[in-house]
Order: sequence, then C-alpha cells, then structure tokens
Amino acid sequence: MANESHHKVIILGSGPAGYTAAIYTARAGLEPILIQGMQPGGQLTITTEVDNFPGFPEGVQGPELMPKMQEQAERFGTKVIFDSVMNTELTDESGGRAEKFKLFCDSGDVYTCDSLIICTGASARWLGMDSEEKLKGFGVSACATCDGFFFKDQEIAVIGGGDAAVEEALFLTNFASKVYLIHRRDELRAEKIMQEHMKANEKIEPVWDSVIEDFLGDPNAGGLKGLSLKNVKTGEISTLDVTGAFVAIGHTPNTEIFGNQLQTDESGYLITKADSTATNLEGVFAAGDVQDRIYRQAITAAGTGCMAALESERYLQLKEGEAARI
Ligand code: NDP
Repeated sequence: MANESHHKVIILGSGPAGYTAAIYTARAGLEPILIQGMQPGGQLTITTEVDNFPGFPEGVQGPELMPKMQEQAERFGTKVIFDSVMNTELTDESGGRAEKFKLFCDSGDVYTCDSLIICTGASARWLGMDSEEKLKGFGVSACATCDGFFFKDQEIAVIGGGDAAVEEALFLTNFASKVYLIHRRDELRAEKIMQEHMKANEKIEPVWDSVIEDFLGDPNAGGLKGLSLKNVKTGEISTLDVTGAFVAIGHTPNTEIFGNQLQTDESGYLITKADSTATNLEGVFAAGDVQDRIYRQAITAAGTGCMAALESERYLQLKEGEAARI
C-alpha cells in the first residue's frame, strides 16, 4: 500500500552531492531521507578509476567509493530509500512556493518536506539518430565500463573529444584490438595529460573532423557492423568497420521531474543564486551536476552538497524561529 510521510529535509539523488548533503544534514540532527533515483550511486558507479578524489593516493574505483559514501551517510542516521521520484509539486496554483514540497515516487509512495535538496545529476547524451536508438545494446553503448568487456579483440570506436571520450578510449584498449576516437574537430577538449596518455597508446587512432552520418547494422543480424562517417571539412562520406561504438558526448541535467517550477538555463541546468545553492524557490537547494555545467567533478559535487546541507539547515532554523514568534 502506498504511504505518505512528512520530513524536514529530503535529498534527491545518490551521487557525491547527495551523500555529502546527507552526511551534513544527518549530523545536524535533521533526520534526512535520501531517495536514490534510477541509478544508485550516480555516474561514478559507471566509471572506473577515480584518481583525483582527495584521500585516495592510489586512486579508487567509482563503484567502490559510492557504497562507502552511502555507509557514511547511514552511520549518522540518513534513511536511504531505493525509489525514484517521478513527479513533484513544489509550487501552488499561483506559481508561488507550496506550503510543503510534495514528491511522487515510482512505488506509489508520496513524500513531503519543508526543505528539498536536489542532487539528481546528469545523464549521458546521445546523438539522437534512429539507427543509434535501434542498435543500443547491440554494439552501441554510452558506458565503456559496463560493456567494454564484450569487445575483446575487436575494432571499435568512441565518439567525442572530452575527458570522458578519451578516458573511455583508454579503458577500452584493455579489451579491443583497436579504438578509433571520432571527433567533430581536429583538437580535443580533454585535459592535456589525458591527451598525452592517448597519444602514447598505439591502439588508439583519432579520426578528426568527422561526424556520424549513420550507425550501420541490424540488431537481429549481429548488431553494429560499422559507421558511416562524414568529414565536416571535405564533405567526404566513408565507412568505418567497427563492431562497437561508445557515445561520449557529454551529459544532460536531470531536471524533467520539476517541469517549469524551477528556473533553469537554456540547457536545463538548475539556476542557483551566486555563492549559494539556493534555487528560485525558498527552501529548495540544488547541488552537484544538476546545477553545474562548468566543473562537473565528484569533488565539486560533494562541495556543493555540503553547501546545500548548511543552507538548508539555516533555512529550517529561520523558519522554526519565525514559527515560534507567531
Ligand atoms: P564534455 O562536454 O567535456 O565533452 C563532450 C565532447 O563531445 C566534446 O568534445 C564535444 O565536442 C563532443 N560533442 C558534444 N556534442 C556532440 C555531438 N552532437 N556530436 C559530436 N560530438 C559532440 O563532456 P565529458 O563527458 O567528456 O566531460 C564532462 C565533465 O566531466 C568535464 O568537466 C570533464 O573534465 C569531466 N570528466 C573528468 C574525467 C577525469 O578527470 N578523469 C573523466 C570524465 C569526465 P566539442 O569539443 O567540439 O565541443
């Protein structure tokens, strides 16, 4: 049977931002509820080695780090719920702030709260072609960690030119015989050190100034067989024979469940006030990749998660103080 319960503070999302907000609000005695979302642990659970999170001199595996964060949040009394919020009511009919924020979960359960911390992160972007959609899971993927193993001794491609694309290409050389890195320009966006690692790896061959025209193959007949490529400078069309293609072209913030109740920028990132995690609705705070189109690191997500928790705590204190004066 569906339940409805009210809480002081609810945290949405279980990446570094969410768990950090949970650790701080729990230690402040606010008895937070954290709703994990579709991908418990967030994006770090589909990454490999995390070398730049302080405190781990030898690096740490993403899927190892996230359960530790959860454990730490639970140690101080956070209640972690495996469910996803499908819809929200944050405003009243006039568009103003609702008396309490209402969250409708996939399970049918409904949660309400006085303060909401949004840490719903971002999801991998796709190129958006029909052939890509058709061949997802049949050679086309957005997760090298999840699917790389299936391409042992095969020739495959990674699409993109950022850190994620280069990291995936490097990781995939553990399995594939060759990895083409297909980029729409002739210069990578990835960090210099990543570019150097890539250059030093003989299995990786860059394909510059090229975009995907089509993913070739049939999901019922062996899956992906190749890529139709277009050189953006010459207009030349060519075919690259590969059995795997990993799309690594960035992310889209997960803000659909808020409709137009919260202010976002043109790409859908939640807008927060300067030097703050406060959104346009009093009592609603946003931390991590859902509000960060610039840094998007685990450590910056954790940092903003901490800010959101402190701001939420202060907000609740002020609200209680006001109520006591009335
Ligand atoms: P980025 O936004 O940094 O890069 C996206 C890449 O995809 C760009 O090269 C872009 O091309 C290309 N691209 C975007 N749209 C298209 C399209 N429609 N067709 C073809 N190519 C396209 O995203 P990442 O996911 O790589 O990185 C996100 C953040 O996470 C960054 O801050 C990054 O530093 C960080 N990160 C850090 C890692 C680490 O430190 N180990 C690992 C992974 C990510 P163009 O360059 O032309 O715009």
